[in-house]
Amino acid sequence: MSRLTDNLQAVRRRLDAACAAAKRPASAVRLLAVSKTFPAADAGELFAAGQPCFGENKVQELEAKAPVLPAAIEWHLIGHLQHNKVRAALQYAAWIHSVDSADLLARIERIAAETGAHPKLLLEVNVSGEESKFGLRPEEVLPVLRTLPPDAPAPVVGLMTMAPFNAPPETLHQVFAGLRTLRDQCAAATGLPLPELSMGMSGDFEIAVAEGSTIVRVGTAIFGHRDYSQQ
Ligand SMILES: *Cc1c(COP(=O)(O)O)cnc(C)c1O
Repeated sequence: MSRLTDNLQAVRRRLDAACAAAKRPASAVRLLAVSKTFPAADAGELFAAGQPCFGENKVQELEAKAPVLPAAIEWHLIGHLQHNKVRAALQYAAWIHSVDSADLLARIERIAAETGAHPKLLLEVNVSGEESKFGLRPEEVLPVLRTLPPDAPAPVVGLMTMAPFNAPPETLHQVFAGLRTLRDQCAAATGLPLPELSMGMSGDFEIAVAEGSTIVRVGTAIFGHRDYSQQ
């Protein structure tokens, strides 16, 4: 077995154990393999080994990889989306985790209606109020959801957050539980089901699963350390 498929299996075992510990079925949490900065061939190898969905941070990288890999791969855009890249993003992304303003949401809906795309959307929330440059403040989430027309072609299916880097476990529990509580409040207030919680990365996904994550975004533990100097 190759290093990549070894790593994937090790992460799957960690994820299955985290689901068992949380008394949740393994099928309740989707593993998103974050392939950013790694060659398209690495994602291709893992897709052949049974990994169906991959995350990219930048539209440019998504545009480079998606066309040279099997069309059955489900691509998730997880990084900040600039307004002028929405059209390109919608060409390949089945999910966008990083919707962080009412303007961006409106633009995605308009272009989705125009092009016939139906991406699933998550609102990115800066729960901890520190570090991350992007993401809505918790109190902005409900007003943004209320701008969504009932017949929106791109449904908002949940919320996403990034935990602060190197935070202690208590803080991580608080941040992830905070996103879940916010989701519960927004779902009750709007009647939207909002089933998805995209939270947890290589270093903290067990805690996120304990707090109700439905999508963990794992890069380093599968692909190895990223080398940004090559970009
Ligand atoms: C890079 C990235 C990840 C993956 O992080 P790892 O620590 O490498 O697992 C997850 N989510 C987002 C938004 C990212 O940009």
